[in-house]
Amino acid sequence: MKLQAFHHCALCAGLAALDAGHEASVARSGRRLFTGALLAAGVGATLPALAQSRDGVDVGKQSSFSKLVPAEQVEAAASQQYAQMMQQARSQKALAPADHPQVVRLRYVAERLIPLSLRWNERAKQWKWEVNLIHSKQINAFCMPGGKIAFYSGILEQLKLNDDEVAQIMGHEIAHALREHARERMGKTAATRLGAGLLSSLLGLGSTGDTLLNMGGQLLTLRFSREDESESDLVGMDIAARAGYEPNAGVTLWQKMIAASKGAPPQFLSTHPAGETRIRDLRENMPRVMPLYQKAEKPSRRFDPA
Ligand SMILES: [Zn+2]
Repeated sequence: MKLQAFHHCALCAGLAALDAGHEASVARSGRRLFTGALLAAGVGATLPALAQSRDGVDVGKQSSFSKLVPAEQVEAAASQQYAQMMQQARSQKALAPADHPQVVRLRYVAERLIPLSLRWNERAKQWKWEVNLIHSKQINAFCMPGGKIAFYSGILEQLKLNDDEVAQIMGHEIAHALREHARERMGKTAATRLGAGLLSSLLGLGSTGDTLLNMGGQLLTLRFSREDESESDLVGMDIAARAGYEPNAGVTLWQKMIAASKGAPPQFLSTHPAGETRIRDLRENMPRVMPLYQKAEKPSRRFDPA
């Protein structure tokens, strides 16, 4: 089946982006510059401080750009697009039913991860989370703003993911939603198009609606930045560890991904390869998440790979 190429990250943009070697510190200093510009424009002043945990990973504050567009609108646009995609999949008989063993598995993992992810985003408590499996050869998975999760059967089958690896992917995708990376991208686009000063005055007048509506289509083609990818890796690993899933699965997952990318579809290969930097970053953060994993209640159910 053919579904529109989705924003993605772990599986296409991520491999390419992470190749260049990035450090969280570089990302953060870049964000400080942006934040400064926005504060000057009077936009950043009302940012709520994001509560951070003391244990686990530390990825700093969210980008101020995410605050330029209302979360409700981003989530509503995502919800609509997700519903359309699932409807499209259903009409092509590509939407796996609720009793499909891999759907049961994905929903079980999600039920463990979601309660432990809420600490990263207050709004997530009200999200109407959904988890679906789409029959498609694509190696892909995503979590749209508002907690709309989908896995493609290709990622489960071709990478022969075990439960720990499924939890790593899901945690990574959920982290994109929690950290509002899509909202951040849209905010950056809005700022570029309108200029931060004009945008802030528009926000004051509450008249950005049309602009945001026009940007909703971006959710389908989003590519996240290297720093967003790195952040999601760490936050995802943190969430999965607290849910009792082995953190080292993040490493084996990426090794499988790299292996798969060697005879892979064009978009996968296009720029390229090594997630070696990513693997190194994951390894470096192992000491932060291992204690969480060790004290976590382990999953009572284990499932066979697809
Ligand atoms: Zn990603």
